[in-house]
Amino acid sequence: MTDTTGLKTSQVTSLAATLALTQELIARPSVTPDDAGCQDLLVERLAPLGFNAEWMNSGPVRNLWLRRGEQAPLFVFAGHTDVVPTGPHEQWTSPPFEPTLRDGMLYGRGAADMKGSIAAFVTALEAFLGETPQPKGSIALLITSDEEGPSVEGTVHVVNTLRARGENMDWCIVGEPSSSALLGDVVRVGRRGSLNATLHIDGIQGHVAYPQDALNPIHLFTRVANALQNEVWDEGNEFFPATSFQFSNVHAGTGADNVIPGTIQARFNFRYCTENTRESLQQRVEQILQAHDARYRLEWSHSGGPFLTQPGALVNAVSEAVRLHAAVTPELNTGGGTSDGRFIAPTGAQVVERGPITATIHKLDECVNPRDLAPLARIYLQVLRTLL
Ligand SMILES: [Zn+2]
Repeated sequence: MTDTTGLKTSQVTSLAATLALTQELIARPSVTPDDAGCQDLLVERLAPLGFNAEWMNSGPVRNLWLRRGEQAPLFVFAGHTDVVPTGPHEQWTSPPFEPTLRDGMLYGRGAADMKGSIAAFVTALEAFLGETPQPKGSIALLITSDEEGPSVEGTVHVVNTLRARGENMDWCIVGEPSSSALLGDVVRVGRRGSLNATLHIDGIQGHVAYPQDALNPIHLFTRVANALQNEVWDEGNEFFPATSFQFSNVHAGTGADNVIPGTIQARFNFRYCTENTRESLQQRVEQILQAHDARYRLEWSHSGGPFLTQPGALVNAVSEAVRLHAAVTPELNTGGGTSDGRFIAPTGAQVVERGPITATIHKLDECVNPRDLAPLARIYLQVLRTLL
């Protein structure tokens, strides 16, 4: 028996099981870096299908590399079992780790980011291997419990381990939430880079009544801040929006009304596109500061460079699958925050992000539409069929 999208009854059953598995995963309170047994559940489901589980733990972080087959090409589903903290439980309508169906939505921490996607990986693989026991290539899952935290012992650790032993990924779908209004309306083909800095500007402390004997760093900062905000860093390009600059923190003052402070600190962030590099941005910030004769110090920290997967086998397969199973033509874009795709793309793998709607992620009452879960699994299944 087949349904309207040409799936056999057994496949429909396994895809419908996506909701049940999502609920099982939400019930495990896996706040970063605690995996709370989520990865064991994946091994339980996939080991009987020929997947070999390898733990690549680092510090407190649990990482799972679950691979089936040896030959190239290698297709990878990447994601994380950890979730961000819930905030006050009493402000949730239902407890965050009790998966709850209410008003047509499934509520719980991680429902959208990204336990629904992880569940869809599993049911898509069950359906695919049911119909294609000998795929033309290998399949793996790269799952970490450190995506929402510092992200230094998670995916990046697994990627380095694989690289060291010459294990190459060809195609990778990251299950991060990426849809905007409808499931599948956006397929992320890259991400902007993220560059942070702390800026210290020094003045001379003094009495507010005797400004001639002091140098007010707040006044200097406002001029510098203006120049930084008004700078056009670039215009973006075909795939990326323009680079954005934002201050996130400013601290100055002694608390007294009659003291000009001696120093000010501010933190800022660039979300940048491929028209700039980390170095070019750093250099331009320095030039602006020097032009204002500021006595300053900068501490830079780089979260990740921008990446872009050009249209090719993977992007085409994903776009086609979305058209078929979500009935929308996806927009290819590079918006949103950083994700672990930034660690995988530099290996040369084609990487796209394809997941549920982003509206409630990291919020109180996080939720996913349960009617989106089976189509999400269908999209993943279709990509597997096309590529393998
Ligand atoms: Zn996520």
